[in-house]
Amino acid sequence: MPDPYRKKTSKKNTQDDFPVFAFIDIETTGSNFERDRITEIGIKTLANNEVSEWESLLDPETFIPQNIQRLTGISPAMLAGKPNFNEVANQLKNELTGKIFVAHNARFDYGFIKASFKRINMDFRPKVLCTVKLSRLLFPQQARHNLDSIIAAHNLVVSSRHRAMGDADLLLQFWRVCEDAVGKERLLAAVNQLVGSVSLPPNINQSVIDAIPDTCGCYIFYGEHNAPLYIGKSINMRSRVMSHFQSALTVRKEMKLSLQVFHIDWTETSGELTALILESKLIKEQMPSMNIKLRKSKDLSAWQLMKDSFGVQRPMLVTHKNLQPGLQENLFGLFYSKKEALGYLAAVAKKYQLCEALLGIEKVEEGRPCFGYQVKQCQGACIGKVSLDVHNLKLETALNLFKVQVWPFEGAIAIKDGDCMVVVDKWCYLGVASNYDELYELARSGSAEFDLDIYKILKKSISGSHKHQLIKLDGTEG
Ligand SMILES: [Zn+2]
Repeated sequence: MPDPYRKKTSKKNTQDDFPVFAFIDIETTGSNFERDRITEIGIKTLANNEVSEWESLLDPETFIPQNIQRLTGISPAMLAGKPNFNEVANQLKNELTGKIFVAHNARFDYGFIKASFKRINMDFRPKVLCTVKLSRLLFPQQARHNLDSIIAAHNLVVSSRHRAMGDADLLLQFWRVCEDAVGKERLLAAVNQLVGSVSLPPNINQSVIDAIPDTCGCYIFYGEHNAPLYIGKSINMRSRVMSHFQSALTVRKEMKLSLQVFHIDWTETSGELTALILESKLIKEQMPSMNIKLRKSKDLSAWQLMKDSFGVQRPMLVTHKNLQPGLQENLFGLFYSKKEALGYLAAVAKKYQLCEALLGIEKVEEGRPCFGYQVKQCQGACIGKVSLDVHNLKLETALNLFKVQVWPFEGAIAIKDGDCMVVVDKWCYLGVASNYDELYELARSGSAEFDLDIYKILKKSISGSHKHQLIKLDGTEG
């Protein structure tokens, strides 16, 4: 299998899923793609920090001018009995497939190799990186960017100048200089900028991309055996999918995704809100390996404040069965688990210098200061240094930031999203209606379980800065 990307996926220990670079130099009989021929090719391949080499002298089957023989030291006698381009074409193609073609004045080397392949009807379309452009981009203060100037500027070690492998090695040395100068990440960003063109993942055809609509919806990337890899949403699915592949050169996660994807599926939605809701549902259902996991809300918890007989506001944990988000006035937080709820209360205590004993986090004997007081964390509400009213007020203020909003409407409402309406009641998503009949039907008979992620999405769409149009079921719009 010549494709280096695939080779790498089967390798367990891939520390760097970075692209493979082929540093290339050729010698020729002249500078005209059509008339002149290649006499030598040298390639140094850099894959995962390992360098391999490929080189060959080639019989150009044509005359070599004296001045060029003098420049390169390659004489007709040296080429007698060497293979011609056709004879190494397959081997060369394998050597270059899936790699970024790096050359100095790349148009020259690339042009010759492409023309040579074309003469034998072989297609050759690699991504090409020109080290003149790279040098100009990274070392703009340098006046000249020809190879001799680069050798001088960076003290490169010359082994055999004007021979293919010798010059290819200089390019690799220059690459190392760039890496040291700007770091791997910036270097790859520069490469991405210069190479520009987007390459499709190895297992995805252009026709798959063309079939994805440029409309709003959710898309799903599947790997081998239909294992869900990633779910995303966008108002323009096709360009969003393409942007995943564009980033594959520089973003490791995108590279991984692009190598593993075998199949892309999508669902169009009427608008962005529906896409967000669908995305959240799909991620929960399919649990794709490369999304951040969304948790199911079965251990949902929140705090309620209850004043005890001494007048102390005590936070009480309310868990799943007793929770009615959207209906309960006195409800703070909404956490995925008890543990998260407790962690939040401890953090609030710390931030507002509250007493952990009064909050019920710490047990102390009557009349004794809490541990926090001794380390100046608690201001002393436990021993009367601060009045209970002040403590109560501080706690209420802190928790109010996380107050669960009571459903502000009479019954169900609909939120306009594109040509459809998202039907919602008490922060629960009932469905999408495309007309008023469906809307009333859903509002009447729909039921759904409360879901924390959906709650957050809906809350934003109703009260956020990009407020959606609301339709109340008495027919008024707000
Ligand atoms: Zn205390």
